[in-house]
Amino acid sequence: MEKAAKVAALRVRLRTDSEYGIWTGGATAGEMDDLKATSLLGGLRFWTAALLRANGEKTCSNAHSCQYDPKQQDQPCALCRIFGCTGLSRAFSLTVDSAGQNGAQTMSFSKGNKGKVELLHHKYTDAKGKIRIPTYYLTQGYCGSLDLALTLRRPQLGSGAYAIPAVIPTALYLMITYGTLGAYDQYGCGLVDFAAPEDKTSLRQLCQTQAKANPAPEGTSLRDFFFFKGKISYPHRLAMGEIRYRIRNALRQGCSAELRHWFCGNIKGKAYGTNYAFTVKPNGALYGWGFYPRSGPAAIFPENRDTVLNAMIDVLRQKDMAGQSLVWRECNSPRDTQKKQPWPEFYTSLLQGDWRDA
Ligand SMILES: [Zn+2]
Repeated sequence: MEKAAKVAALRVRLRTDSEYGIWTGGATAGEMDDLKATSLLGGLRFWTAALLRANGEKTCSNAHSCQYDPKQQDQPCALCRIFGCTGLSRAFSLTVDSAGQNGAQTMSFSKGNKGKVELLHHKYTDAKGKIRIPTYYLTQGYCGSLDLALTLRRPQLGSGAYAIPAVIPTALYLMITYGTLGAYDQYGCGLVDFAAPEDKTSLRQLCQTQAKANPAPEGTSLRDFFFFKGKISYPHRLAMGEIRYRIRNALRQGCSAELRHWFCGNIKGKAYGTNYAFTVKPNGALYGWGFYPRSGPAAIFPENRDTVLNAMIDVLRQKDMAGQSLVWRECNSPRDTQKKQPWPEFYTSLLQGDWRDA
């Protein structure tokens, strides 16, 4: 049994931590008119599911979802017990507030108004004799402070405890510290940091301290995630396109086109989201994360996992990129620059580490 956090409400004050801000969508596609909690909830659900699976809990997938009938013995999965399913409401509410600064009048952004990055030195002539320039788009989201508030709405199923299950603050803590919040993180958005150090301390105190060694069930789990950071000397805006270009290019050798599109994202043809995200700040600080499932329905090419992640590291380690400053964290992997660690030790090191140092 997971140790329950002893609070029924929590508040975390954050601020966006890169020039690309945070993107939570809006009523019109490609425009953002407000901070939307639904966009953050989707990410929190994804990280919570990944954390539950990493600790050996089976949770539903997109293909299958639980149903709840109080008359039946069967309980919904650990994820649905918190996030709800047919017949069961979500156990908590999440609100997000811009905290009065940079209010609604400054929140009218349109996709792409951060401009595009053209990699002129990679221009080429296509089969029709036309000159092409690889181009990458950047997105401008909301920049400023954001307050998250989580409030319990009903007792926990089973135990009846009136407390937010510890897996929620844990997933939130990991997401803020190692990942991104909101959408369009493939275009640089979503890097946030704690606005108040005491909120970081109190959120960390609510986290689960123990991880389970049992094998992870099928599906994307936190054991499949990777996190990286470093210091880049390459011009920071150009690097946003250059890194993507080099990774995609590196995957042209030894990997199928479908794998490349699946991992890197593809705007034409079959629509895949990207499996990794990163931001380069004006001071050259690079922060990124991603996932590559080892098993389960989302693991389309599990046998290529090492090839792809090695290629990615090779690019990031190039002299004009992060070079020797690259820090790479990945559970149970020789690629981990700190130490190859099984899940429980890896998890502990994630919770204890101070990741955002630049
Ligand atoms: Zn479920």
